[in-house]
Amino acid sequence: MVAVRTNPEGPVSEAMSFFWIPPNLPGVTITPHQMLATDLGGNCQIYLNNVKVSEDYLLGEINKGFSIIKSFFDSHLPGIAGLVGTMRRIYEHMREYAKQRRAGGKSLIEHPNVALKLGEIATDLEALRNLMYRAAWEIDVAQSSYNYKHNLFWYSAAYAFLKKISWHFCNLATDIYGGMSAAKELPLGEFMKHIFYVRAAGLTFDINRLIACRDYEGRYQKGV
Ligand SMILES: Cc1cc2nc3c(=O)[nH]c(=O)nc-3n(C[C@H](O)[C@H](O)[C@H](O)COP(=O)(O)OP(=O)(O)OC[C@H]3O[C@@H](n4cnc5c(N)ncnc54)[C@H](O)[C@@H]3O)c2cc1C
Repeated sequence: MVAVRTNPEGPVSEAMSFFWIPPNLPGVTITPHQMLATDLGGNCQIYLNNVKVSEDYLLGEINKGFSIIKSFFDSHLPGIAGLVGTMRRIYEHMREYAKQRRAGGKSLIEHPNVALKLGEIATDLEALRNLMYRAAWEIDVAQSSYNYKHNLFWYSAAYAFLKKISWHFCNLATDIYGGMSAAKELPLGEFMKHIFYVRAAGLTFDINRLIACRDYEGRYQKGV
């Protein structure tokens, strides 16, 4: 499924259309990549060289492809929810670990530098969860209104915040687990691989933030 510019003028939001492109058409080359983590499916470079399809392969209306993209964006929120839950589970494991493991004559959690990292993680997770709930609420409200346009700010802000928090989470968690961080028996390594993999999913971190910033300006008429 490919979004292409079908009107040379105007912003992509008003100038692109979606097509199904059968992979066996002349001019289509697909080069699969082997990824570090494969649980999310494949990844490949797709080259389209003078590929022709008939109008039958058009999805939706011409130049209205953006309406399809925006619905993809809204549907990313459940993925964020799953990752919040995963981080919460690792956090709980980490807290128990910090209570049980002893260093310098006391448990790890009794060392203020370890406790403050756990506190920072807890704060980040609550902030992320609340932003996600707000985004879900905004999407529900907007979708039930008659003139639903899009939820770019709420989707992009929640996704960018997830990316920021999750990388920082790995940073802090590595310090708490110390030399055990990369042990397969602990949950952090798999999570890091997953987070690394999704970093550029649903657009890159920069583009998530740029979209959020632009939409916020238009949506609330406030400077950012
Ligand atoms: C797990 C996963 C799942 C994915 N699933 C899908 C999917 O289902 N469907 C799909 O179509 N794609 C999918 N993607 C692709 C994903 O949308 C792209 O990887 C992402 O949009 C970034 O594009 P790119 O990889 O070409 O990076 P590039 O565009 O090459 O970006 C590289 C760098 O340049 C910056 N940059 C690029 N363009 C601009 C610009 N205009 N302004 C400012 N900075 C810019 C980026 O921010 C980044 O820092 C998936 C990717 C991953 C990792």
